[in-house]
Amino acid sequence: MVKETIRVYARVKPLGRRQQAGIYSVDDDEKSLSSLEIIVPRDLADGFVNNKRESYKFKFQKIFDQEAKQDVVFDNIAKPVAECVLAGYNGTIFAYGQTGSGKTFTITGGAERYSDRGIIPRTLSYIFDQLQKDSSKVYTTHVSYLEIYNECGYDLLNPRHEASRLEDLPKVTIMEDPDQNIHLKNLSLQQATNEEEALNLLFLGDTNRMIAETPMNQASSRSHCIFTIHISSKEPGSATIRRSKLHLVDLAGSERVAKTGVGGHLLTEAKYINLSLHYLEQVIIALAEKNRSHIPYRNSMMTSVLRDSLGGNCMTTMIATLSIDRRNIEESISTCRFAQRVALIKNEAILNEEIDPTLMIVKLKKEIQELKDELVLVTGKQRTSELSQEELLQLDELIETFLEDNDPNSTLDVGADMRKIKYCFIHLKQLMNDSKISDKKLLLQHNSEEKDTNKEVGEEELKKLKELLQQRDNEINILVNMLKKEKKRAQEALFQLNSASAGSTVLEQSLCVNLEEGQSPASSFSLKEAKDFSSSVHRLPFLSRQTEGKMSLGCQEAFEVFKQDHADSITIEDNKELLKQRFAEAKCLGEKLNEVRSKINHLKGEITQRHIQRAVLAVSSPSEELNTLDPVEEQLRTQIEEEKKSYKIMFNRLKGLKVEIEHLQLLMEKAKMKLQKDFEVWWSEEAQNLQEKPEMVSSSNIMTVYPQLRKPSQHLSINSFSETTRVSPSEDPAGKNNSITSSNPISKTRTPASSSTSIPLTGDSQADADILAFMKARQNILQKKGLGNK
Ligand code: ADP
Ligand code: MG
Repeated sequence: MVKETIRVYARVKPLGRRQQAGIYSVDDDEKSLSSLEIIVPRDLADGFVNNKRESYKFKFQKIFDQEAKQDVVFDNIAKPVAECVLAGYNGTIFAYGQTGSGKTFTITGGAERYSDRGIIPRTLSYIFDQLQKDSSKVYTTHVSYLEIYNECGYDLLNPRHEASRLEDLPKVTIMEDPDQNIHLKNLSLQQATNEEEALNLLFLGDTNRMIAETPMNQASSRSHCIFTIHISSKEPGSATIRRSKLHLVDLAGSERVAKTGVGGHLLTEAKYINLSLHYLEQVIIALAEKNRSHIPYRNSMMTSVLRDSLGGNCMTTMIATLSIDRRNIEESISTCRFAQRVALIKNEAILNEEIDPTLMIVKLKKEIQELKDELVLVTGKQRTSELSQEELLQLDELIETFLEDNDPNSTLDVGADMRKIKYCFIHLKQLMNDSKISDKKLLLQHNSEEKDTNKEVGEEELKKLKELLQQRDNEINILVNMLKKEKKRAQEALFQLNSASAGSTVLEQSLCVNLEEGQSPASSFSLKEAKDFSSSVHRLPFLSRQTEGKMSLGCQEAFEVFKQDHADSITIEDNKELLKQRFAEAKCLGEKLNEVRSKINHLKGEITQRHIQRAVLAVSSPSEELNTLDPVEEQLRTQIEEEKKSYKIMFNRLKGLKVEIEHLQLLMEKAKMKLQKDFEVWWSEEAQNLQEKPEMVSSSNIMTVYPQLRKPSQHLSINSFSETTRVSPSEDPAGKNNSITSSNPISKTRTPASSSTSIPLTGDSQADADILAFMKARQNILQKKGLGNK
């Protein structure tokens, strides 16, 4: 890539005979840029001489003054560009200046002398000379000649054309491809194999241009001419082609409509007569400005055609032609100013290389053949593009064995033959497609089977749990029934007793709490135990009596007080509390178990749902993934396992709790028995004491009732009750009216354990009979449980 600014040269035309020389000077420095100074003289104004002068200085790559010859101009300006074009870069040389300043003379040359040949013929000569010298490449040369007049393009090289007017020439239009490359439609590209052919074409074009020109249209001064040399080159055997072109441009006259004359105060900008030059200047200004993104190339055909030459992929050179006589100073300065702007433009010329597709195909075909030959040499086998029938059969067998082999490490080895490898893939694909439908069916079947198995497993589990639940329900029902029965029986017994006596409810109440708690579904002590337990309740009529009889009330109070002071009562209360806790825990566990059970059922339901979804998916869009394990299902199964684990833990805990509850109940019962027994002992002792000291009571103000025991007994036994104890109401005539709750405030009956002076007893035969019945019942229970006192 070559990045450089547009080179700008100046050429000053020799003065004509009648021309009056303007004042200018050329500072031609070999090493650096040359400078041209133009002096604008002050005309006489109002009759006195103005000696002030205005000076304008312009820098150029090189300035060719009046005596400069065509060969020097060519060598300095065109030759370097021609060399670049031969190397594969694009190049442009354009002449810019007012009409008559020597543009055509410089680009095409003078018509009279051979030495006046301009840049085009000299360049053609040079290029063909170079092409002939270079045998390393194959070159093709074409030329085109375009005239742009009034925004219309004309092909000057149409050989069949005998034009008398410019409008009769084939019209050239601009086409732009998506890459914004300009293509000129209808512009003929004439091949020129040598200098002579090329020069003939140039001559043809110039003739056409000349014929079309009339004094009326002034085509030569108002039109732009672009002579283009197209060169393509490639090295023999290479598919890479280099294409380059050299535009040699003779622009329209740059003269303007002057607004101020030479004698004006300041040289001001004037408008171009030619509009397309105005657009050219706009493009130049835009290109000279930094950070300018939009360049208005499209405004005119000329700027479109020269697009690459200005700010693009091109090595561009400008020649400013100047005719510096006194009348043209203003125009000369305008031309120089334009040149200064052009000098700021940077172009980036790149090598135009492309690959010839036809050449590429030929090259590749050759390469393939060479490789095939090499393969034959290496394998010793001639390979055709098709596999033989025998080879195909062999491959089929190989594929079959491979598919049937269960070894995961098994491979399908067909050798380094792409034809065989390809065939295997095609064959496998075919097999896949054939079995797709049956696979789908299989998958569906498999899924439904799996679903069934899961269903079976689930049903089994469900059945077990249901059975367990049923068992629990049965247990609860039995217990409830039992309780009901026992309660009924207790009530019946109570009723029976009540017909003659009254009782207390205290113990029953305390036991009832347990019985009611026993209804908890988590509790399930055995039927026998339950029966025994409840029977122990109904056999305590003494304490379960609900009537408000004086005696029973006294007994009740006595028992209450005794109980409070009894050491075991704390244990009983503690155990009662513990039992309550255990029941609550068991209840909670039971609920949790239910929760876990429903959770497991829910997870199972999810798995089933998953199976259905996958089965549907397998049908609608079969893929490898569906044949593998479902990670979601795996996760669900893990969850179920975990839930089962926690179920088991909870279940075992519940089992443990049941044992504990049963044990606690037994302990409670034992404690209560002991309490009752102790009470009885204490009661009988107190009774005996009273019997031994009856005077204490009778002398007392308090109307106290004593149990009338005929025979004192150390221990309150059923025998002693049945054999010796008999209540004789007549022996206590005042007993009926006595009460422990007498109005006497100093009664001490509330502290029976510590006091031996006042025992709450009734003389009521009914109450005493109750006591006897109670004692008997107690004895029965104790005997039954092996706890009875002998
Ligand atoms: P343009 O194309 O800019 O209008 P031309 O190239 O037609 O100008 O030149 C006008 C006249 O001046 C022509 O007759 C041409 O031969 C002559 N002329 C221009 N430049 C030179 C030069 N450097 N040496 C001799 N004659 C010249
Ligand atoms: Mg001209």
